[in-house]
Amino acid sequence: MEKKLAICPGSFDPITNGHLDIIRRGATIFDDVIVAIANNTAKAPLFSVEERIYLIEEATKDIPNVTVDVSEGLLVDYASQQNAHAILRGLRAVSDFEYEMQITSMNKKLEPHIETFFMMTNNQYSFLSSSIVKEVAQYDGNIASLVPKVVEEALLEKFKK
Ligand code: ADP
Repeated sequence: MEKKLAICPGSFDPITNGHLDIIRRGATIFDDVIVAIANNTAKAPLFSVEERIYLIEEATKDIPNVTVDVSEGLLVDYASQQNAHAILRGLRAVSDFEYEMQITSMNKKLEPHIETFFMMTNNQYSFLSSSIVKEVAQYDGNIASLVPKVVEEALLEKFKK
């Protein structure tokens, strides 16, 4: 049977335990998961694409069916090129819902045969975002339980005084 591939897109600036939870669980449902760093957002990232690739690769190295890539341009075009069956997204609080619905409807219009799958985050990560982690790290707050070790070290290095 054909392998089922999911693309897990995002900025991952940097990857958090919330992202990792979705990727890890997604990897038990799909045969393969590509974590795709979107390189076309207006946001000015803290970590370069190369740094983000490294951090995701380190954080997922124990999950054999997960790979990391960069997607330029439209996500649905990237997903089609990869022959993906699905786009995998995480849902945190209700606040994610409206934004995700908008993107999903647009993606469906652009590329009707690619489904978007949502997984509800583990409760403990409901209010976890890359932005909040950066904010806390910047002021020397403890982020050890929020991100993989390698990310904690990278953030310490970035904000070293
Ligand atoms: P984007 O800028 O595309 O929203 P993010 O890196 O912030 O990129 O998020 C990528 C995906 O990971 C999104 O589906 C988002 O909902 C999900 N995600 C982010 N943080 C968490 C979390 N704490 N728990 C579960 N999913 C999350």
